[in-house]
Amino acid sequence: MLEITQLKEILAQPKRIVITTHHKPDGDALGSSLGLYNYLVQKGHHVHVISPTDYPYFLQWLPNNPEVLIFTEKQEESKKLIAEAELIFCLDFNSLSRINDMGPLVKESAAKKVMIDHHLEPEDFDDYRLWSINACATAQLVYDFIANKMQDKGLINKDVATCLYTGIMTDSGSFKFPTTTAEVHYIIGDLIACGAENSKIHQLVYDNFSESRLRFLGNALLNKLEVLPEYNTAIISISGKELQEYSIVTGDTEGLVNYALTINGIKLAALIVERPDRVKLSLRSTGEFPANEICKKYFDGGGHRNAAGGHSEQTLNEVILKFKSILPEYKNLLIS
Ligand code: 5GP
Ligand code: MN
Repeated sequence: MLEITQLKEILAQPKRIVITTHHKPDGDALGSSLGLYNYLVQKGHHVHVISPTDYPYFLQWLPNNPEVLIFTEKQEESKKLIAEAELIFCLDFNSLSRINDMGPLVKESAAKKVMIDHHLEPEDFDDYRLWSINACATAQLVYDFIANKMQDKGLINKDVATCLYTGIMTDSGSFKFPTTTAEVHYIIGDLIACGAENSKIHQLVYDNFSESRLRFLGNALLNKLEVLPEYNTAIISISGKELQEYSIVTGDTEGLVNYALTINGIKLAALIVERPDRVKLSLRSTGEFPANEICKKYFDGGGHRNAAGGHSEQTLNEVILKFKSILPEYKNLLIS
């Protein structure tokens, strides 16, 4: 493992750097990646952000978004950049399976790897690690990296601040999840002082949807929500046909699961979506209920205690039945 002084020494000269994040990146994944990008280019480095897949349109306004390479669309160029990189920053993930086919390429690259992340149980592929499950977002850790570890607070300009604000805002549920500590509010205050236009950012992320996405949401809440009061659990399931019917694109289902959790008394909410390649499961829970345990044990996934995900090769109906069959095991936790 490198010490921060060694990493600082490496970063004292211009380097070839790749920043990557998990597939289907969300606001924190992309906000922390572009936040770090906008910082490192000021230091004179040659930096590329490579996302394993595409990502939602409501994140495509982030400062320097056009610089992001999408691995599935630019494979040869991405492979070359990864192979030739001297440093690879791995943001908002800690298991190489989260970057799909890029995993083996990152692993084999001679580059030093820096992990900045806030998920449980990190794999051992990095040379320097800034990791805390107490951080509400990876963007919070990137702020810490720039301001405190690198002592470059002066380089948090408007672009950096805008990206990091977006990451913290989206991963903290707009500053309401339990991880939103006083320190997070101090950081957010500082990011606004550095130029992040908070009101505009909220609008760009949350008031930027298509009409069909809103109608899809209406249909999901009216017709696709199933409440199981005996388990304080709610399920929303979406078929592939419905995704087509409402012209659903990447990002349109984000946040849907949270509606199920707004019902009084509900402790566990599931969104089960029949994607073209496999069925994807998103779980949200309240309090001590370990949503990540269910995802890890039964759906080849993981995540945080209150926000986790997984997937399955079974059919949509089979996954719904499997999910329901697991609930008795957790009944005590769910009804207490
Ligand atoms: P979402 O439900 O929004 O897709 O994911 C919620 C959280 O669960 C993410 O922050 C991520 O940490 C985790 N997660 C989602 N899908 C997977 C998965 O397939 N594997 C693992 N390990 N974690 C996942
Ligand atoms: Mn995150």
